[in-house]
Amino acid sequence: MTPTTQTTQTTQTTQMVTSSVPVGATCSPDSTLDWSGPMLAGAIVLDDRVAPCASWSAVVRAGDVLTIVDVGGNQSADCLIYHAHDTRERYSVPDTLAWQGNAYVRTGTVLRSNLGGPLMTVVGNEIDRQDTIGGACSKESNTLRYGHHVMFHHGCRENFLSEGARRGLGVRDLVSNLNWFMNVPVEDDGALGIVDGMSAPGRRVAVRAETDVLVVVSNCPQMNNPCNDFNPTPLRMIVVSP
Ligand SMILES: [Zn+2]
Repeated sequence: MTPTTQTTQTTQTTQMVTSSVPVGATCSPDSTLDWSGPMLAGAIVLDDRVAPCASWSAVVRAGDVLTIVDVGGNQSADCLIYHAHDTRERYSVPDTLAWQGNAYVRTGTVLRSNLGGPLMTVVGNEIDRQDTIGGACSKESNTLRYGHHVMFHHGCRENFLSEGARRGLGVRDLVSNLNWFMNVPVEDDGALGIVDGMSAPGRRVAVRAETDVLVVVSNCPQMNNPCNDFNPTPLRMIVVSP
């Protein structure tokens, strides 16, 4: 889908600002949406709906389980995790993959920190595998990949920065991330691809907090490659206390 171009008059003068960032972004009206509930039973602590292209964060207490619902299907939920009481300890891709000896995130994967400690564990997963290699999109990488005309389209990095600012995080706190529901296959020769997703409306992943954690999510705004099926859609974030 070509990014929606909206024109906003900002003053009473003739100055016009043209932006490709949809205002109050909505998904395609013919999208199939499935708002599935939590994967694990328990008392509902939090139940949020995240608009397409928007960001979200919450502290998940030790023992509580976060279910992320891919409401519209094939929607990448880019995710960073920090120790809630000392954000210098944060999610680490190499620690997570090296400890488990596998390139994919599946049920049972322990999401480890830069100190090797367990932050969260995947306790439910309704797609074959989850990605943590593909990284996050940004205005800069979009411009390099797709051309200068997409420079006004915000990416996950910008979502991480704006959401993180609400939690006392800055640019030095951004690290490599998880991509829930994104399909990045590792081919026989080691090559990576970002291809059509294997998720569907209502598919879920559930992660249990092993300590108090701050979870920051970018509902990926990318519209220039298939990672969101060219149609960013909502997410549902549900925290339960089992
Ligand atoms: Zn993105």
